[in-house]
Amino acid sequence: MAELFTFVLGDIFGVVTLAVGITIGFWLGKLWARYTQPQQAPAVEAASDADPEGESTVYRNQLAGMIQFTSHFTGDLNKHIELLEHLEQKLAHPDSDTATTDDGPSAKAVELIAQITAANQKLKQRLESAEATLKTQSQALEDTLSEARTDVLTQLLNRRAFEEERERRWALWDRKEQPFSLLILDIDHFKRVNDTYGHDAGDLVLREVAARLTSVMRKTDYLARIGGEELAILIPESDWASVSTVSKKVLNIVRTLPVKYDETTIDITLSCGVMPVVYADGLETLTKGADEALYAAKTAGRNCGFLNNGESLIPIEDNSSPPISQAEPPSDEHPSSPENEDEPTAQIPINELDSAANELKNRLFQISQSILP
Ligand code: GH3
Ligand code: MG
Ligand code: MG
Repeated sequence: MAELFTFVLGDIFGVVTLAVGITIGFWLGKLWARYTQPQQAPAVEAASDADPEGESTVYRNQLAGMIQFTSHFTGDLNKHIELLEHLEQKLAHPDSDTATTDDGPSAKAVELIAQITAANQKLKQRLESAEATLKTQSQALEDTLSEARTDVLTQLLNRRAFEEERERRWALWDRKEQPFSLLILDIDHFKRVNDTYGHDAGDLVLREVAARLTSVMRKTDYLARIGGEELAILIPESDWASVSTVSKKVLNIVRTLPVKYDETTIDITLSCGVMPVVYADGLETLTKGADEALYAAKTAGRNCGFLNNGESLIPIEDNSSPPISQAEPPSDEHPSSPENEDEPTAQIPINELDSAANELKNRLFQISQSILP
């Protein structure tokens, strides 16, 4: 009888220890996963004027708090394990107090079982409260990280977030040939807005432009504020049809509706420069290429977009402004998709395009004269 009881008690102890082990393992596994899995890029991100030193102090403090808490908790776990080992020893080598009699377990043995149960109960409570504490702390850490990538004024992603994403997409292009294009947008004559209506009006315009661009973005596009009145979009395509569609969409959503400010309305336009990754041999060329295309749009009179294919600057939208000086020879390569009507069929230098546009305007004028009464 005594042997049977010791055997049963040993079994109970084994099961309880196993259960505790599984619980701790599961809990630590969850924690591990939480801190090692990459966080998804938040929809909205980072402060363009973030103070990196201030930020890193906040991270350090938050992490130090978590480490301190974890080491406290590990101390508790060790105590618990020590207690279980002690109880196990007692069961394995029962003294006269803990030995069972033919009449059943002694009072001491019953007390041992009660101690194991109480210790496990306490551990369970500690696990629950530890989980809650760490949840709060990790949320605070996530908030800090998210703030570091969010532009405060527009709530768009900031330059830091954008640069990371640009590198990520470049790596995907480099390794897996997943194409993308870089669009750089700049508000036209924004200084005038500030000068005419004041800085608050300028801020409102920035927020409004950000909201409108966001409203036409697809989930796979990546929009960020990369400078004062400069924004950028990464789109996951590099064919002519896609880049021209996106460019026209963003230019239109801003130009078609003036921004309301107090009793007045402010007309806003954007200029846009695009470089598809297929024409770039590195990130630097890509950014420089998009900048050149933006400069071409500004030179062409603003309120329009240009695409840089590495050899020529092609108007995505011709606003019939004076020709721009930087005309490159035509290239055989072109970011085109044959089924797209929008796409130019051949590479034409910019000055030729411009004279063709003028000729077309003259023809239209002649036709209109001939049909008008
Ligand atoms: P362009 O068409 O050539 O781009 O001319 P622009 O006037 O837009 O460009 P410029 O670089 O001359 O002026 C940019 C202005 O944007 C100057 C700066 O004061 C203003 N700006 C930059 N950031 C902010 C901001 O956060 N809020 C406001 N209100 N203005 C800003
Ligand atoms: Mg500007
Ligand atoms: Mg600018």
